[in-house]
Amino acid sequence: MVSTAPLRTTRSEEIFSAAQHLMPGGVSSPVRAFKSVGGQPIVFDRVKGAYIWDVDNNQYIDYVGTWGPAICGHAHPEVLQALSSALEKGTSFGAPCYLENVLAEMVINAVPSIEMVRFVNSGTEACMAVLRLMRAFTGRDKIIKFEGNYHGHADMFLVKAGSGVATLGLPDSPGVPKSATQSTLTAPYNDPEAVKKLLEDNPGEIAGVILEPIVGNSGFVPPEPGFLEGLRELTREHDTLLVFDEVMTGFRIAYGGVQDKFGVTPDLTTLGKIIGGGLPVGAYGGRRDIMEMIAPAGPVYQAGTLSGNPLAMTAGIKTLEILQRPGTYEQLEASTKKLIDGLLSAARDTGHTVCGGNISGMFGLFFTEGPVRNYEDAKQADTTKFSRFHRGMLEEGVYLAPSQYEAGFTSLAHTDEDIEKTIAAARKVLADL
Ligand SMILES: *Cc1c(COP(=O)(O)O)cnc(C)c1O
Repeated sequence: MVSTAPLRTTRSEEIFSAAQHLMPGGVSSPVRAFKSVGGQPIVFDRVKGAYIWDVDNNQYIDYVGTWGPAICGHAHPEVLQALSSALEKGTSFGAPCYLENVLAEMVINAVPSIEMVRFVNSGTEACMAVLRLMRAFTGRDKIIKFEGNYHGHADMFLVKAGSGVATLGLPDSPGVPKSATQSTLTAPYNDPEAVKKLLEDNPGEIAGVILEPIVGNSGFVPPEPGFLEGLRELTREHDTLLVFDEVMTGFRIAYGGVQDKFGVTPDLTTLGKIIGGGLPVGAYGGRRDIMEMIAPAGPVYQAGTLSGNPLAMTAGIKTLEILQRPGTYEQLEASTKKLIDGLLSAARDTGHTVCGGNISGMFGLFFTEGPVRNYEDAKQADTTKFSRFHRGMLEEGVYLAPSQYEAGFTSLAHTDEDIEKTIAAARKVLADL
């Protein structure tokens, strides 16, 4: 797999240049265009286990995993089998379906804060809906979010959002009216004092605090000890809601998410990515008294033609079943730790300044001394070096997220050999940087 010939990507280039006339930037989601790392994106043909193949038939070890959902490995045979059985019964009901009960029960049993859940079709939708619910329940408009945290592309969250917005260096998006964001207050991550000040300066006006309990959308940035606990205390004191956006971390950091791993229970939680097992799903849930405000139980409107779709529920159920098996999270932790330790040593041995880490199957590396505690720190990283590293790794058959501001993901399908090959490739690429 570690090749010496330059990567041939003729077919990818043809398809991507045609795509640019058909879709804005040639993509259906911005970060896929490789803008921040330069060069052409590769166009995928198929995925299996820890690997992807592009349309020129190059094989890569994948550390994006379709941005998280492929935690059991791409195209897991049991997920495919479950999907093909479900397919026989039809693709969409637009009516109640027993599979919704099954996945709802699994989510409720797993995630400490969730007593009731509503399924939607994406993480963006879950975050939009949870914000409406926060406001309805408290009768307040203002929210606090953190710089570099991403909660989907809804207007109210496009203030110092991470991920693709950070990647492209867009300030706040045109088309977002001031009225939509004037109630969105922001604080630096890992800074409870800043949150305390916002709460004190806006007494009785804050509906809640929403955050990524481990950040993946400014690169990988874990909470410092006491930060989540501090937010829980502050939100209680000020009688406001605490919301964990676990769209990325749910069922990845631990089966019950960050809230289970760190023992801090928010009032509401958003989910996505893994719970759809690779099909489009999002969800939000939390305390029963809050969730019962959602229509038709209560007055807060939120709906979806394809919500609770039987295929999406099936892929989610099977994925969670696999994750429940003994040893899965231990395996993810061990292989990801081995990977990040290897990458950091390879970088240091070849004279680069780096910092990074992992928690369970989520990892990240910055070309800066660190520590990276928040988005401002993340921006100090050498993105030009990251771009060259990214391109070099691609040439060596390793697919990393095409931005310094994204976390990396491993899966249960990544073997020791995959990890060792990746570290060897990194050592080679870094030596030449
Ligand atoms: C991916 C992500 C979202 C948005 O989910 P989509 O399914 O892409 O709309 C929201 N919040 C976090 C933390 C995410 O990582």
